[in-house]
Amino acid sequence: MKEREHVYGPIPSRRLGRSLGVSPIPGKTCNYACNYCMLGATNRMSGDRKEWFPLDDLLAEVDSFLEEGVGYDTITVCGEGEPTLYSRLDELIDGLHARQDKPVAVITNSGNMDRPEVRQALMKADIVLPSLEAADEPTWRAIHRPSPHISFPAIIEGLKAFAKDYQGQLWLEVMLLKDFNDSPDQLSAIKTLVDAIRPDRVYINTPVRPPADPTVKAPDHKTVQRAADLLGGTALDYLTDQDFDSAEEDPLQAVLTICKRHPMNRFELVHFLEERGVKDTEAFIRTLKAEDGLDTVTYCGIESYRNTRS
Ligand code: SF4
Repeated sequence: MKEREHVYGPIPSRRLGRSLGVSPIPGKTCNYACNYCMLGATNRMSGDRKEWFPLDDLLAEVDSFLEEGVGYDTITVCGEGEPTLYSRLDELIDGLHARQDKPVAVITNSGNMDRPEVRQALMKADIVLPSLEAADEPTWRAIHRPSPHISFPAIIEGLKAFAKDYQGQLWLEVMLLKDFNDSPDQLSAIKTLVDAIRPDRVYINTPVRPPADPTVKAPDHKTVQRAADLLGGTALDYLTDQDFDSAEEDPLQAVLTICKRHPMNRFELVHFLEERGVKDTEAFIRTLKAEDGLDTVTYCGIESYRNTRS
């Protein structure tokens, strides 16, 4: 099996099953610099929509993955930055549909929802998962630290317009952050927006992986459940993610590849190594931690590993 630059996984997802990732954007290129981002600080703040990588190269990697016959449930356009910054997103989705018949999902931070051409591209996806963390501008700015050209009222209007016309599955994601958006007033304002958008599903996330801003914390379980009840959503717990996969045969290279796009916590890492037949997992973790660019962060009392090497 080959290692690839833009296609990765499948990785486990509570919402999307075994999700094959397609990343059309260079590492941490984003129009937001969210305080909870599990990928670390935004390297390149950009609102530019362009063909960051040739479309043909992305689709050639998908073809090479499909030739291997590995099982998956969904193809998800996401990865290392905001995928709606890819100017040929509509053609990418068309290309994915032309090659296979599993659903195509797009995860977006909603920051480009004011652009008609972005809404038009997203119409082609089977599942769209936009984020909605705030119902007022100061909270939105505090959480997302957005690119200056983005207007909060405009993206909310864009999200509503998209929801009205979209024929696929709209699954709204709300990342709940202690003392940012978890007060009863905040949640009630978010609910008003959710009622206007009328998504098919609402997922409540919490930052269970080390966030870009180490002071960011997840609310307690009761608050998360209260939010899920109020918003009619499902609370997710990513600590139970398992079944990571990689085309790399060498376990160290496999872990480094996975941790570039999806940090693993210690439980997930040990489970992965046991599946790969690694006997001395402690020795492996020591070697891993000595790798250049490997960040070890303790968050919620659990070690997590993130590969920052470009
Ligand atoms: S969480 Fe997503 S939207 Fe926010 S900075 Fe990270 S990649 Fe960008």
